[in-house]
Amino acid sequence: MTRVVVIGAGVGGLGAATRLAGAGCDVTVVEASDGIGGKLNTEVLDGHTFDTGPSLMTMPFTLADTLAAADVRLEDVLELLPVEPICRYRWHDGSQLETWTDEERTAAEFERFERGAGEEWRELLAQGQRTWDMSLPLFLSEPVGSLLDIARRSGRPIDPRVIQAHVTLSQIAERRFRDPRLRQLLERFATYAGADPARAPGTLSVIPYTETAFGAWHPRGGMHRIAEVLRAAIELRGGEVRTGARAERIHVEDGAAVGVELADGTYLAADAVVSNVDASHLYGTLLDAPKQARQVAEAPQSVSGFVLMLAMRGRTPDLAHHNIWFPRDYRAEFADVFDDPQPAHDPAVYLCNPAATDPSCAPPGDESWFVLVNAPRHGPVDWEAAGERYQEHILDRLDALGLDARGRLKAVLRRTPADLERLTGAPGGAIYGTASMGPRAAFLRPRNESPAARRLYLATGSAHPGGGVPLVLLSGKIAAELVLRDCG
Ligand SMILES: Cc1cc2nc3c(=O)[nH]c(=O)nc-3n(C[C@H](O)[C@H](O)[C@H](O)COP(=O)(O)OP(=O)(O)OC[C@H]3O[C@@H](n4cnc5c(N)ncnc54)[C@H](O)[C@@H]3O)c2cc1C
Repeated sequence: MTRVVVIGAGVGGLGAATRLAGAGCDVTVVEASDGIGGKLNTEVLDGHTFDTGPSLMTMPFTLADTLAAADVRLEDVLELLPVEPICRYRWHDGSQLETWTDEERTAAEFERFERGAGEEWRELLAQGQRTWDMSLPLFLSEPVGSLLDIARRSGRPIDPRVIQAHVTLSQIAERRFRDPRLRQLLERFATYAGADPARAPGTLSVIPYTETAFGAWHPRGGMHRIAEVLRAAIELRGGEVRTGARAERIHVEDGAAVGVELADGTYLAADAVVSNVDASHLYGTLLDAPKQARQVAEAPQSVSGFVLMLAMRGRTPDLAHHNIWFPRDYRAEFADVFDDPQPAHDPAVYLCNPAATDPSCAPPGDESWFVLVNAPRHGPVDWEAAGERYQEHILDRLDALGLDARGRLKAVLRRTPADLERLTGAPGGAIYGTASMGPRAAFLRPRNESPAARRLYLATGSAHPGGGVPLVLLSGKIAAELVLRDCG
């Protein structure tokens, strides 16, 4: 029986472990913290339940496929509630627009803002579908390669107009829309990959297509349920998940990973090791791999986030599940986050109000708000010092938006980029590892098959194909398939 040690119980580690346990491997997951899920975690405050990280679930088939590999049916273990509208966007001038899985309904919303914008939306989605149909089987589900590898897999040359990496997301927004509000809306999707839209490849314009085609979902009970059902599937297939078990060192013999040493001195022998920790931690601490550590350190890091979890009294009229308020000057926000790191004065505010879909996350009649703004990483900004002041600033912003946050606030929990770093090991609290910036960024992410040691594989949002729950699950799929190819 192939023995596999998985380091980290984030979505990527749990996803890979589910597939490997399902394939009959002897799987042990070791997790440094006391809980599972990594960035996808949960907090309870005054009877209010909060997801601490991801709040939007897209592409649920990635989870269904992962569970199916362990003979578990998604619908038997998790109730996915559809979220409509997908998101409600608002601007300073009082205007608002909603996106829906119904393409025509969203197109009509765009048309209200600008004549012809509805048709541009339809074309954007059609273009997104072409990009998606090519990239899912040939790039996102396979170990990272070059454009040439993709062409080889597809059997024909790749048309760069399908990938759209030669233009930036901002350029696509400018070409499609004249109205600055619609441009902002499209540019926002760069932040799903932790990037600046002025430098992010236009490929990211595929995201509105994936949201429209595959929907926005909320697991009843919260996003953390995803980690729980994965853990249950691993255990059902005989695997083990150990929490409070920090990996200290990966042992390598004759160029191959042979085991993992834990902080308490325990040694776990392995035929293969899957690393779910951030690539910089893997190459800088768990292994001596200076070349790979340098490559990761030199790549641009993704954005971090400043989070407030607010236990709110009462219900808010006109609050959707996902809400965005755009700033007057979006460029200034990205300059604050990436160029001259400082807490943004007027950031886009994202507010997730899951009680709109799932009342179980708050006491009857109340709400649990998850408020997230883009933030520079800890390091360039000292978030230990800046956190409290910025919390007051964001509460002021919420009040200025007419939400009466302070008046109804029962309790608050804050997560700064420094907290994210401490709690999940993400350097500086970078949410998505290295940022997807520049035309070749997608090809330069750390590989799932480690070049530093044989039989060592990466299943993490900091490696290929990238961050966000669905892509991290694909990272777990690729890593598991590589293990089975080499050791199965
Ligand atoms: C605020 C926020 C909002 C987000 N919003 C969304 C969203 O709406 N939708 C979406 O799809 N994604 C979202 N994301 C991104 C998503 O959460 C991540 O891409 C994904 O959860 C990363 O999973 P992972 O498995 O790569 O790593 P992680 O979640 O970082 O897990 C790594 C695990 O490894 C453990 N570990 C570290 N070092 C060791 C060691 N030495 N030994 C043992 N264990 C170790 C850590 O404790 C951690 O549990 C968000 C993230 C954040 C922080």
